[in-house]
Amino acid sequence: MKILITGGAGFIGSAVIRHILSNTQDSVTNVDALTYAGNLESLSNADESERYYFEHVDICNRTELDRVFNTHKPDAVMHLAAESHVDRSITGPAEFIQTNIVGTYTLLEAAREYWNTLSNDAKKSFRFHHISTDEVYGDLPHPDEQEGELTLFTEETSYAPSSPYSASKASSDHLVRAWLRTYGFPTIVTNCSNNYGPYHFPEKLIPLVILNALEGKDLPIYGKGDQIRDWLYVEDHARALYKVVTEGIVGETYNIGGHNEKQNIEVVKSICSILDTLVPKDSLYSEQITFVADRPGHDRRYAIDSSKMQNELGWTPEETFESGLRKTIEWYLVNQLWCENVQNGSYQRERLGEIKHK
Ligand code: NAD
Repeated sequence: MKILITGGAGFIGSAVIRHILSNTQDSVTNVDALTYAGNLESLSNADESERYYFEHVDICNRTELDRVFNTHKPDAVMHLAAESHVDRSITGPAEFIQTNIVGTYTLLEAAREYWNTLSNDAKKSFRFHHISTDEVYGDLPHPDEQEGELTLFTEETSYAPSSPYSASKASSDHLVRAWLRTYGFPTIVTNCSNNYGPYHFPEKLIPLVILNALEGKDLPIYGKGDQIRDWLYVEDHARALYKVVTEGIVGETYNIGGHNEKQNIEVVKSICSILDTLVPKDSLYSEQITFVADRPGHDRRYAIDSSKMQNELGWTPEETFESGLRKTIEWYLVNQLWCENVQNGSYQRERLGEIKHK
C-alpha cells in the first residue's frame, strides 16, 4: 500500500510512520507543515528508507495538496495533522479553526477529487482515515459525583466538546461523516484517549513533568489534580491505527483507549517515584509538586470503552501504564538533546491557556 499521512512529524504521526516502515512493506508520504509541534528529528531513521517521502505542505493549501495526490497516488490517507494542545486553543483558537476545520475540509476535497479519478476497484479499496480524540464527547461523571459503575465513552456517545480544541476536532469529525453520507467517500473515524510515550512535545503533562522534575523546577498541577484521563501508550495507538486503516469497515467509528484511568495527580506522583529510583537525589521529586489555578472549562473525566476495537479488529493495548511510563521516562533521560532542539528557544514550558480578566 501507498499511505499518505498528514501530521507525520508530530507525536502520534511519527509513531505511525515508524510502525509502518518497521513492520510492513508499505510506503509512506508524510505531509506536514512543520509547525512548532512538528519535528523531523522524530523521523531521523525514516529518512534512510526508500519507502519514505516527505512533503513540506500545509493541509490548507489546496494547490499543493492536488500536486501531492497526483504525484504520490496514495491508496489510503491517514489524517493526523492538527493543532492539538487544549491550553494553546484557549489562548489562540484561530489556528485551531484554520487547521482542524478548514484544513480537514481542504484535505477532504483534494482527496475526493483524486478518488474520483481512480478505477472502480481502486475507488472501492481507497480509505480516508480521520484520526480524532475522545475529547469530542465532553466529560463523563467523576467518581466524586456518581456512585456505582461509571459510564464510558462508546461510539454512540453524543458529541459535547468543551474546549476550542475539542470543538474544532468535533467539527472535523462531522465534516468527515458528511463526506461519507453525501458523496459516498470511503471514510473511517477513530477517537482515541490521551496518548503518552517517546517524542511527545514537552508542553503536555507527562513530558513536561519529567523535564521540570529533572531540572529542579515546579511540577504544576491544575486545580486539585483529580481530573481523570485514560492513558494509552503511543505505540499501541500506532498499531491500532494501522489495523483500522487496513481492516476497518468504511463508515464505522472506532474508539481506542488504554484501560488506564488515572487521576493527573497519580500520574505525576508515579513519574516522581520512578525518577526517585532512576535518578535519585537528596530530596524526593514529589516535593516539587505545586497546585496552580485550574484550566478554564477543564473536563473532569474521560474514559473509553474500546471493546469494538477488541471484538471486531482483535486489537488490545500491549503496554500497561506502569511499563509504558517507565519506558517513556527512560526515553526522555537518554534523549535530552531532542528535547532541547524541539523547544527551540520559543517555548520554555511556561503556563499557557490562562484567561486574563481585565
Ligand atoms: P502533534 O501536535 O504532536 O502533531 C501535529 C502535527 O501536525 C505536527 O507535525 C504539525 O507540524 C502538523 N500540522 C499542524 N498544522 C498543520 C497544517 N496546517 N498542515 C500540515 N501539517 C500540520 O499532535 P499529536 O499529539 O501527534 O496528535 C495527532 C492527531 O491525533 C491529532 O489530530 C489529534 O487531535 C489526535 N489525537 C491526539 C491525542 C493525544 O493524546 N496526543 C489523543 C487522541 C487524538
